[in-house]
Parts: sequence; structure tokens; C-alpha cells
Amino acid sequence: KASVMDGDKFDNDLSPDALEELEAKTGLEKLQEDRKTLPIYPYREQLLQAVKDYQVLVIVGETGSGKTTQIPQYLHEAGYTKLGKVGCTQPRRVAAMSVAARVSQEMGVKLGHEVGYSIRFEDNTSEKTIIKYMTDGMLLREFLGEPDLASYSVIMVDEAHERTLSTDILFGLVKQDISRFRPDLKLLISSATLDAEKFSDYFDSAPIFKIPGRRYPVEIHYTRAPEADYLDAAIVTVLQIHVTQSPGDILVFFTGQEEIETAEETLKHRTKGLGTKIAELIICPIYANLPTELQAKIFEPTPEGARKVVLATNIAETSLTIDGIKYVIDPGFCKMKSYNPRTGMESLLVTPVSKASAMQRAGRSGRTGPGMCFRLYTAYNYHHDLDDNTVPEIQRTNLASVVLSLKSLGIHDLLNFDFMDPPPSEALLKALELLFALNALNKHGELTKVGRRMAEFPLDPMQAKMIVASDKYKCSDEIISIAAMLSIGNSIFYRPKDKQVHADNARMNFHTGNVGDHMALLKVYNSWRETNFSTQWCYENYIQVRSMKRARDIRDQLEGLLERVEIELSSSPNELDAVKKSITSGFFPHSARLQKNGSYRTVKHPQTVHIHPSSGLAQVLPRWVVYHELVLTTKEYMRQVTELKPDWLVEIAPHYYQLKDVEDPASKKMPKGVGRTSELVQL
Ligand code: ADP
Ligand code: MG
Repeated sequence: KASVMDGDKFDNDLSPDALEELEAKTGLEKLQEDRKTLPIYPYREQLLQAVKDYQVLVIVGETGSGKTTQIPQYLHEAGYTKLGKVGCTQPRRVAAMSVAARVSQEMGVKLGHEVGYSIRFEDNTSEKTIIKYMTDGMLLREFLGEPDLASYSVIMVDEAHERTLSTDILFGLVKQDISRFRPDLKLLISSATLDAEKFSDYFDSAPIFKIPGRRYPVEIHYTRAPEADYLDAAIVTVLQIHVTQSPGDILVFFTGQEEIETAEETLKHRTKGLGTKIAELIICPIYANLPTELQAKIFEPTPEGARKVVLATNIAETSLTIDGIKYVIDPGFCKMKSYNPRTGMESLLVTPVSKASAMQRAGRSGRTGPGMCFRLYTAYNYHHDLDDNTVPEIQRTNLASVVLSLKSLGIHDLLNFDFMDPPPSEALLKALELLFALNALNKHGELTKVGRRMAEFPLDPMQAKMIVASDKYKCSDEIISIAAMLSIGNSIFYRPKDKQVHADNARMNFHTGNVGDHMALLKVYNSWRETNFSTQWCYENYIQVRSMKRARDIRDQLEGLLERVEIELSSSPNELDAVKKSITSGFFPHSARLQKNGSYRTVKHPQTVHIHPSSGLAQVLPRWVVYHELVLTTKEYMRQVTELKPDWLVEIAPHYYQLKDVEDPASKKMPKGVGRTSELVQL
């Protein structure tokens, strides 16, 4: 009886607030204990000493050793944040967000205060921030405003092995910077793979600090014959593991959101069919556009008796460490950008991974105990067909954006820029050519006023030009809404399986008058704005409210940037052509002409393309169109398409298109208005 009394007393004494505080404290203590179990912990002092002794340090350690979450904290504890911020770059925004959230938890501070993150269109930092995680692209943009990185004491370029375009450019800039202006800035380059010599060589033989990993053996299984449908094969493998293998979570690599969503649905359906005969299977998707509140789910410990299956993109290869993974399923593909410098066309392609990637993926299963990796391809494929390493992004991408940034930093001699791996000179020339056609550079290759304005926008140069051009056509209000909606990608319309007809009808309402996809996006945005941003309205129209809110945020930021480059907010609600001409001013390289068979030919570098079935113009087939982007699935599709008058091309881009490009071969009649040079637009 006495003990019950004691218990009551204890309860009464602690107010709910105090109890919460106590729990928070013990949670924090637990996190502090966990920090000490990470492979990096025994090397803390040695690492700090090395940072003290050298300006540039290359750090190599297996995924999960604690590089990303611990090193910035060690630096903070050692006093570096008194001298300036510690900045840590990540190639992926989900990683930047997730890691910042974790570190703020470990430090017991509110995310966005002492520990924050910055990704494109979302800055979650404050005056207080001393540890800042950010995408490498954001640090590149900060460079434009603060070329000596004066507010930082340490920069850690993390995940360097990924060799993203921004990381490679940052390398060149920081290397120049630290020797010239910032002898006190510390630079850490961290990588999950062992090819660190290359980084060391590039940074004048910087020392390499190796964090010995804990690695358990991983048993690798191949399929006997190639899989015709890797998505289905992956699902079957998940279920087989779940039913026959000992406890341990599963990680499956897919190429993108669509595949992951399909896999999730199929898995749910099939496990339901198995009923209570099997243990619970917790399905956790993770990809870049997954809403933040769902991202945390992958880290939640799996309850006793259940099994977790994580369906991930490349993000789980090295960027995020998920504890408890014992089985990895690797279909052997990823989505990769590819660029054809001849045509200037860029597309995202599903491509076989490299051997290095496949090894990393397998390694995710052997972190806390022996693991198993199921490769959904043959051993022969692995040995004979896969490249050893992934080609650095700089060698397979459109460089226009980077060239514009470098030019605005006053770096003119691009051919002699200190690239770790130089891009093909053809790609550099193509970028210069495009920027010249966009009027961002003059014929001496110098930045123009238009170019300077464009560089302020964290957008692809064609989109930036579209916005700058809207000043002339007095429709900047419309154009920034369109730009914001385009930045969201294809997650605006919602199409539930059981209500597809309703959803499609709702969607076609925005296409009345065959105005084109850009105008439809504008109509969606403006209609939502008219309802005072109503959530109910979104539901009724099958529109994803979350995407719309993000579009609104982006739009607000673009509006701020307009002010910065002194472009007035102007609106021409009834001038359809004004808006279309602004779009054309940026996207004229993306123009195409209808063929007899219903396909299109791109105008400048003839290639056959098609209007994407989701477009409002898919049944209309205008003679001339301008498109936002190409996506290759079963065919080369144009996504987000608007009708165009061919004479605009010559009017707007006289040094890109000549009369002969837009003449109609059938009638040999010149389009109206072409040739009146007095109408040439000099933006
Ligand atoms: P590395 O950068 O060397 O790959 P990390 O610092 O990312 O290693 O990870 C160290 C540990 O922190 C891992 O065990 C991982 O599971 C844990 N961790 C990292 N991010 C999170 C998170 N958002 N939630 C829970 N645990 C996390
Ligand atoms: Mg890391």
C-alpha cells in the first residue's frame, strides 16, 4: 500500500511540464550516449588536431560512420563556431533537411535556430545559426553574394564522391578562394568511397584522414537470367525475404517517385492478400518530393515482430543512413541526367548504375551485422556491362547555369578554369552560345545587364530569361506565377485511382480554350489565389494543396527577387500573347513544329518529339509549340507545352533563328510579320 502512496505522490509532484522536461532530458542523454558509439567517435581528438594542423583535409569514412552529423558538432564543441559558421554541403535537399533535423535534436536546440538548413526556395536558418547544412547548389549561390565566404570558419563539402556539378564548381572556386583571400578558412572534403587520392591531388596533396569502418560481410546474390520487369522482380523479392528470412529490415533502390509509389501500392495490395499469415510489413517510401513529415518515418525503430521495407531512390545509397537494414535489393538502375552537346538537349534517363554504386548499395546491408544483397541482374551483367564509376555530372549536363554563375563572379576564362575533371569543350561552347542567344552575354562573352539580372534568380537561365523578359511585356505577375508552378514539377494535379474521370474533368476545366499548359498552370494558381488560398477549393479541383503552398512560397521569393533586379510587378490579365511571348523569350530554343503524322520536329536541331499525353494540347496539336522540358519514357515527350506563332521566333531570337528555320515548307509562304527588322527585340 505504501508503494502505491509513493507512486501517487510522485505523480502529483511532477507537473506535466516538468515531466516533459525530464523526458526530453533523458532523450537527450540517450542521444549523447548514442553519439559515442559511432565509429568516428574514437577519432574525435585526432580529427580535430588534423583540422587544426591543415587548411584542407580529405576525410574518408563509410556511410554511417558519423561524418555528416558528428564532424560539424565536434568543430562547434572545439570552438570553431565562435569564428564563423560551420557550413556543410549535401548534394540532395532531403539529406540536408534530415541531417539538420537530426543534429538539432542531438544538440537539443530547435531546428532553424543554432542548427539550420538552406535549400533552394527554403531557408530554415536564423541569426543564431552556427551549424548550417545546405545543398551544394545553395553554397554556390551564396558565393555569388559573398565571394570570400566571410561568414564561415569551416566549409565541409560532404558526399564529395557524388561529384555533382555544384560540388565540382565549388571545388574550383574554394580552391582559388582559400589561397587568395581566406588563409584562415578550413576546408573539409568528405567522401564515402576510397578514391580519395583524386581529391587530395587536386587540393595540392591535402592529407587524407581515414575513419576505419565497421563492416560486416555481405552475401551477394545475382539473378540467373536478366529480369524483364525489375519492378515486379523487386516486389517478389521483398515478399520472399519477408516470408522466409530472419528478422531485419529491407532496403530497395528504385529510380524515382513514380516507381516507388507503384511499388508501395502493389506491396500493400499483395500483403493484404496474405492476411494475418505473415508478420507486419511496414512500408516506408523516401524520395526528394516526399513531404517532410513523412520523411522522418524511415528512421523510426521497427517494432518487435514487424519488418520495415524502405523504398528509396539513390538518396539511401550514401546520403542517408538507415539503421537496422539487413537486406538490400538492387535492381541496378538509377535516373541520370544526360546531355547531348550537339543538340543541346538534356534528359533524365533510367540508366544502369556503376559498379561503385552497386558496391555502395550492397554495403548498406552490412552496417550493423552480416547482410545480404540481392542484385536483380546477372553476375555477367555486373562484371561486363556496368561502368566502374559514374561519370561526373559536369561531363553530362547542360552548363548554361554554371557558366552564367561563373561569369557573374567575374570568371571569364572558362577554358582555363581549374576543373577537377573538365567538361567537354563542346558543352562549354554550347552554354556560351545559349547565353548569347538569350542576350545574357554580349558577343565578347561579357555579362550584359539582362545576364546580370538573370543571374539573380536561382533558376535555369531559360526560366530566368522568361522572367526578365516579362518586364518588357508587362506581365511579370503572370510569369512569376507560371515559373513558380513549373518549379513544382508534376505534382500539382491529384489523380486518385478510383476517381480518375472526375480528376481528369476537373483538370480539363483549366484548359478551356486550349490555352496551353503554361496558361492552365497560371489559371490554377490565380483561381486558388482568388479563393484566398482555400484548401477546400484544392480538394474540389483535385489539386494538391501542399504543392500549391510550395508554389506560393516560391512565388513570394521570386517577387522579392523582381524587386531586387528592379523589375516592376505588372499584370496584363487579358494579353495572352504577352505572356506567351515572355515564355518564348526564355524558351525559344525549345520550339517544335508539327509533322504530318502528328509528331513534332524540334526547329533548331531537328529531332522527333511528341506532346506528352498529360498535356492539354495533346489532342489539339497546334502547328508550332514551345515546350518546357523533354522527358524520355517510351518516346521523347515534350512536357508543358504552349502554342507559338513562328514569327515570334525570329522577332525574339534573331541571332538564333533565321527566316528559313520558320518558313513553312509546304506553302513556302512566309509567316506574317517576319523580316520586319524594326520589330527586333533587344532585351
Ligand atoms: P555518415 O555521414 O558518415 O554516413 P551520419 O552522420 O549520417 O554518417 O550518420 C550517423 C548516425 O546517425 C547513423 O547511425 C544514422 O542512423 C544516424 N542518423 C543520421 N540521421 C538521422 C536521422 N535523421 N534520424 C535518426 N538517425 C539519424
Ligand atoms: Mg553522410
